[in-house]
Amino acid sequence: MVFKTPFFVLLHFKISLKTNKDNSMNTPKRYTITAALPYTNGPIHIGHLAGVYVPADIYARYLRLKGKDVAYISGSDEHGVAIPMRAKKEGVSPQVVIDKYHGIIKQSFIDFGISFDNYSRTSSKIHHETASEFFTKMYNDGEFIEEVSAQLYDAEANQFLADRFVVGTCPKCSFEESYGDQCENCGTSHNATDLINPKSAITGNVPTVKETKHWFLPLDKHEDFLSEWILEGHKKDWKPNVYGQVKSWIDDGLRPRAVTRDLDWGIPVPLKDAEGKVLYVWFDAPIGYISSTKEWAAREGKNWEDYWKKDDTKLVHFIGKDNIVFHCIIFPSMLKAHGNYILPDNVPANEFLNLEGNKLSTSKNWAVWLHEYLEEFPNQQDVLRYTLTANAPENKDNDFTWKDFQAKNNNELVAIFGNFINRVVVLTNKYYQGIVPNPNDFTEVDEDVLTAIKEFPNVIGKSIERYRFREASQELMSLARLGNKYLADEEPWKVIKVDEERVKTIMFVALQISAALAVLSEPFLPFTSDKLKGILNIIQSDSETSLSWENVTEKNILLPANHQINKAELLFSKIEDKTIEAQVEKLQATKIANEQENKVVAPQKETIEFDDFTKLDIRIGTILEAEKVAKTKKLLKIKVDVGIDIRTIVSGIAESFSPKDLIGQQVSVLVNLAPRKIRGVESNGMILMTDTPDGKLAFMEPEKAVKNGQEVS
Ligand SMILES: [Zn+2]
Repeated sequence: MVFKTPFFVLLHFKISLKTNKDNSMNTPKRYTITAALPYTNGPIHIGHLAGVYVPADIYARYLRLKGKDVAYISGSDEHGVAIPMRAKKEGVSPQVVIDKYHGIIKQSFIDFGISFDNYSRTSSKIHHETASEFFTKMYNDGEFIEEVSAQLYDAEANQFLADRFVVGTCPKCSFEESYGDQCENCGTSHNATDLINPKSAITGNVPTVKETKHWFLPLDKHEDFLSEWILEGHKKDWKPNVYGQVKSWIDDGLRPRAVTRDLDWGIPVPLKDAEGKVLYVWFDAPIGYISSTKEWAAREGKNWEDYWKKDDTKLVHFIGKDNIVFHCIIFPSMLKAHGNYILPDNVPANEFLNLEGNKLSTSKNWAVWLHEYLEEFPNQQDVLRYTLTANAPENKDNDFTWKDFQAKNNNELVAIFGNFINRVVVLTNKYYQGIVPNPNDFTEVDEDVLTAIKEFPNVIGKSIERYRFREASQELMSLARLGNKYLADEEPWKVIKVDEERVKTIMFVALQISAALAVLSEPFLPFTSDKLKGILNIIQSDSETSLSWENVTEKNILLPANHQINKAELLFSKIEDKTIEAQVEKLQATKIANEQENKVVAPQKETIEFDDFTKLDIRIGTILEAEKVAKTKKLLKIKVDVGIDIRTIVSGIAESFSPKDLIGQQVSVLVNLAPRKIRGVESNGMILMTDTPDGKLAFMEPEKAVKNGQEVS
């Protein structure tokens, strides 16, 4: 049997030649990886995970496996207008709101295996100090413009309106529900005074204008630097969606942005004449990365400045696309203006993930919430991690569906990865009591497979380093596929009957693939990797059997002969249809609840006299026969016994019922309606119907069965 060099190996070889140039850049000494600070006005959902936390976690775990010095940093964003607004709505203090969501968010990240080195919060003392010092240094250096200007004001609420306190029409895309600082529809960031037809979100009033003093960051002053650094310097290595958004911003011309607000929730502006003013949440939040790093460094005995101020540190911001302007324009301008800070090497922002065809929304409860997933799918973190990675919205918006989630689990994780490992471990226990056998001479096929294994760390690593996590996850699955194919082709369970020595070699090779999978799956499937290491008896801390990312390439043998492995355990289990149906129903219920909430009840019709009503002759009848009216979608020709007679009625209910289900159904019929011809069929009366929340129709039937011909009055 001739086993050709697998196609993917050739393909990978080409890719590695092409990207060699990128790697000639000097290697960073350490990495500062930030993941967007989640806002504490709600829990984490799959959109946040797919956009930010899962890719950032893969990147951080991969670098650690390569022995790199990594600070993976995040924390809760607890300032901004939405917090006091939510508190007001719930009738509690802002502190209660942030404590509640910070708790839920932090715990769900831990349970999901997001491996932050530090997860802080912006209400912490260290952050208030850091942000105040940052502002003060910029203020003293004359980096702000001080300006008294007319701002929107709600006289009834006695409050200035900025950010989410005001909604109006977006000046760029005409979306009518844009916030004062940013449009959720097109992502544009603007000043509240730019909104067309602004309205107070507190009282609904049309705002007046009132003068107030604020400090502005003159972004126009930083235009040249931004243009040179990003538009010229990062043309090739930044993602096109990020680069494109930055370019359109700079091309439109940057304007000064206020970095302070008239508000009583946030970090007080550290100036004498600034009572009642706080830092704008988007000024203080990114500084949260720095304070969180400080907190971590103090605990770990490190110097935080190495991670923010040294040129040989690589800074990468993981964010969603709605944060591009803040991380590529505003925060870098702040870092540059402050001085001494490094700038991000890359900002690999993702596009949006949708859910079952609709935009994810916290306020509309249209989401798969992480804390609920963890409860409903215990010990299946990796299934969600894998689905969100394999379907990541890296270059365009993508859709999460429960059907696809089930397919990714059943057809890939169970059928390929899990199946391969299970067969290897079961057979090794069955044939050799779990002891790795001594191989005999390798065939050409064996050699090809052993060579192919060594390619994978590079191939997967290159994809990760280029922020192509989706591609990287598929390369990992290719390794499992290679294992599955090897076993299927070599059929050790058949060969054992004729050539026991050959089976030793086959199982030895298959065990090497398993060990490679245990190591290389760690960034993507950390729980599975742990479990598999346990099964293969590879203990991380034990120097003799521990394996690093590089070892998979460097070592000829990953699991030596005579190494004892443990018994088989299932890595993944099949997800049944009924589990998926339950999730889809849950979403359906949300949709109905949202529609009901938005449904407008029709106003009452003109008053009538009792005599008008008595003209209507409504009877209870029973359906005897029903069939579709030819060439129509909606119409059924129905025979009803209305007590008086048996008559034909044409009714537009075919989209809600199938004819055979209607036989015997009791209905209310307006029997004295003048006959009329509908599609060539004479209809004698009308069956009374109402709409249901799911968009279908329902009959008006008596609560108890009654005699046909019974009057309704
Ligand atoms: Zn817009």
